[in-house]
Amino acid sequence: MPEIEARIQSIFEQVVQRNPGESEFHQAVKEVIDTLGPALRHHPEYADQKIIARICEPERQIIFRVPWQDDRGEVQINRGFRVGFNSALGPYKGGLRFHPSVYLGIIKFLGFEQVFKNAITGMPLGGGKGGSDFDPKGKSDAEVMRFCQSFMTELYRHIGDITDVPAGDIGVGGREIGYLFGQYKRITNRYESGVLTGKSPKWGGALVRREATGYGTVYFAEEMLKARGDSLEGKTCVVSGSGNVAIYAIEKLQMLGAKIVACSDSNGVIYHASGIHLDTVKQLKEVQRRRIRNYIDEHPGAQYIEGGQVWDIPCQVALPCATQNELDAEAARTLVANGCIAVAEGANMPTTPGGVKIFLESNLAYGPGKAANAGGVATSALEMQQNASRDNWTFEHTEQRLHEIMTGIHQDCYETAAEFGSPGNYVIGANIAAFRHVAEAMLA
Ligand code: GLU
Repeated sequence: MPEIEARIQSIFEQVVQRNPGESEFHQAVKEVIDTLGPALRHHPEYADQKIIARICEPERQIIFRVPWQDDRGEVQINRGFRVGFNSALGPYKGGLRFHPSVYLGIIKFLGFEQVFKNAITGMPLGGGKGGSDFDPKGKSDAEVMRFCQSFMTELYRHIGDITDVPAGDIGVGGREIGYLFGQYKRITNRYESGVLTGKSPKWGGALVRREATGYGTVYFAEEMLKARGDSLEGKTCVVSGSGNVAIYAIEKLQMLGAKIVACSDSNGVIYHASGIHLDTVKQLKEVQRRRIRNYIDEHPGAQYIEGGQVWDIPCQVALPCATQNELDAEAARTLVANGCIAVAEGANMPTTPGGVKIFLESNLAYGPGKAANAGGVATSALEMQQNASRDNWTFEHTEQRLHEIMTGIHQDCYETAAEFGSPGNYVIGANIAAFRHVAEAMLA
């Protein structure tokens, strides 16, 4: 093994040893550092200064108890996390995830990804992530509120608009951000709008933030197709998930003339050959907070496949917008065999390493999440800008900025991949481009 690759391998072994049992974190680290050999050859100073090993160690990790009372008056206890991963480029920035699968390894994988994703936006953002093993599913509004208030009662001392700026992620949307901000304001006596992003545009939030991750993923897919002389118009698409990212990915795909035939939730898939009716999905998921299976009550012509996967449905473009490791090697093989030409990830690390390998060996355009879904956090940075200048931008202006940022990210990845001898490989392009931004700041 050449010296640089051996050095990278030994850094990875140390990461595994120092973070036992955190398989998602190991996976995220490996996926990035395995592609950095060419960058280290170009920049020996990165190796001399142990930049990779330093980036793999979070700057701070906070774990705390979150006691709260349910509607029966019983005390419940959850665990809260906030990891400040890297602040070379700006204050820690990244969402909060409330999901029963959350433990330190999930937060660290997400925080690590966030460092690179945020760097690639070109905005002054460090990377962090947080959350809890609290499950909002089936909880009343009052229970979610009490949980959020208790969570913030500890979190508030660790965050601030120039320290660490949380936002939403799975299980944390506009409602939760509202409850969290209310408690922050009450405890600190500060209307510090820039301490959280993803706020409602009715009180300090930015227009387009809700739509941004989904819209941005579609813009990235459109850029990848454009680089091949193609477009999304008329393409048959599948989107996994039916949460915030999936809903606004579907919306933008439809605006660009694509046809979306499937979406899903953690229980099953809706296949609607004539095209998904987005209003029904929005009503079910955003207003009623019900399961996707209820879609067929409104549309008997659609099919519900319990336990199914959208990847089995033939399509030209696939957008994984649900969660980590939802698309494995077998699913990737099916997509390629069915003639899929582009995959852009709206979720964080949705494709397993085996699946990524198959995509990269095929002729399909594959946009990894840290580039393709960076529109969400980029628009958070636009929200922070508006908060800092006490301004409100129009929807049109904000969306135009988002579009420019996504086009810029695509170009950065595309050019970096070519510069390092792997044209069209967005994994190499995204990892090296992002790594260089962070490494330069750390060295300086
Ligand atoms: N949770 C989102 C992500 O994975 C957004 C983070 C943010 O806006 O800070 O990028």
